[in-house]
Amino acid sequence: MKYSGYHGRFGGAFIPEILVPTFDELEAAYLEAKADPAFWQEYEQLMSTYSCRATPITYAENLTKYFGGAQIYIKREDLNHTGAHKANNVMGQGLLTKRMGKKRVIAETGAGQHGVATATMAAKFGFDCTIYMGAVDVARQRPNVFWMEQMGATVVAVEDGSATLKDAINEAFRDWVTNMDDTHYVLGTACGPYPFPDMVSWLQSIIGKEAREQMLERTGQLPSRCYACVGGGSNAMGLFGGFFEDESVQLVGVEAGGHGRGIGQHAVRLAYDDATVGVAQGYKTYFLQNTDGQMQETHSVSAGLDYVGVSPILAALHESKRVRFEAATDAEVVEAMQLTVRKEGLIPALETSHGFAQAFKEAPEMSKDEIILINQSGRADKDIFTVADAIDDPKWKEFIIRKAEEYKRA
Ligand SMILES: *Cc1c(COP(=O)(O)O)cnc(C)c1O
Repeated sequence: MKYSGYHGRFGGAFIPEILVPTFDELEAAYLEAKADPAFWQEYEQLMSTYSCRATPITYAENLTKYFGGAQIYIKREDLNHTGAHKANNVMGQGLLTKRMGKKRVIAETGAGQHGVATATMAAKFGFDCTIYMGAVDVARQRPNVFWMEQMGATVVAVEDGSATLKDAINEAFRDWVTNMDDTHYVLGTACGPYPFPDMVSWLQSIIGKEAREQMLERTGQLPSRCYACVGGGSNAMGLFGGFFEDESVQLVGVEAGGHGRGIGQHAVRLAYDDATVGVAQGYKTYFLQNTDGQMQETHSVSAGLDYVGVSPILAALHESKRVRFEAATDAEVVEAMQLTVRKEGLIPALETSHGFAQAFKEAPEMSKDEIILINQSGRADKDIFTVADAIDDPKWKEFIIRKAEEYKRA
């Protein structure tokens, strides 16, 4: 490969020898596309006709009044096709797959959002598509599996190990090693071996590029703080990517604080001291692991932030202090989401609502002249089961029970 893929002491590409030519090919395609203005033009054209780009920014007037501090603006990635910023990454990788002359894509997915996004892209581009998913996740994410199958993807339920995301990742890599000539592995976030963290961050930077221009046009000034939730880190890298050069803009990444402090209770890799630096899943970063390098249990109300590792680029930006990391608990997140729904009629996903929760802690202390920008990475339609449970809505429970009885009778 041309570059080592390190950011500070994080990143790299720890891959089996047999995959080296495939990674070389991918790096070359990525660097070529990045240097070719025609690629970005094609990408913008595709996203503007297929996925509602440029996504707008919305002034949250009611929330601003409610908190009485900084003016709150929201970047609307929830308006993308399939309901989140994930569309940016998968459609971009679809264009790269075409450039490499490959005809088949594979991906792994936990909650299923990245699987749906990848299956959508494959349907649009006419690629064969196989999605690896832990058997436990297949069982609990039927709505997403349903759409993947409708879109023509083969969903493989992985029974190995704990039958969840990390087992699906292993299986996807096994497939890639066997089929690398015609297959591209669509990694879902700014993690994994180089060039994935860099390539995914670059594709997602469309968010920040748009947002910076839109903020200047709308308000004549830059936001003093930008907030984004952090799972693997792709929507955060996307928004922050527009503002790295602007030293006056504070960048705040918000991780899943889950039930609160204590190993196994959360998925906080950077804001707390619970994670340590190690190499796993092909790259070096902070992982929630024990002293033997065994990955620890994590918990979050939002499946998309429930991950043991984090983007190596964000790990480096944490050490250089360019990005500040915070955590929001499940309870704070559900409350922030309900408040946003009630005050603005916007429905931020549970992942997204971590960013909102932290912004709501800080906005009241800031001056009315200041502006903050929150990335609404996705919408919460997918979260209706979890949210209805969390707020213990009796009418929802009644509806589900009635539905189940109808099926039983049929
Ligand atoms: C998947 C997902 C995330 C987490 O992924 P990142 O790579 O950290 O952005 C955040 N928000 C939404 C809505 C998601 O679907």
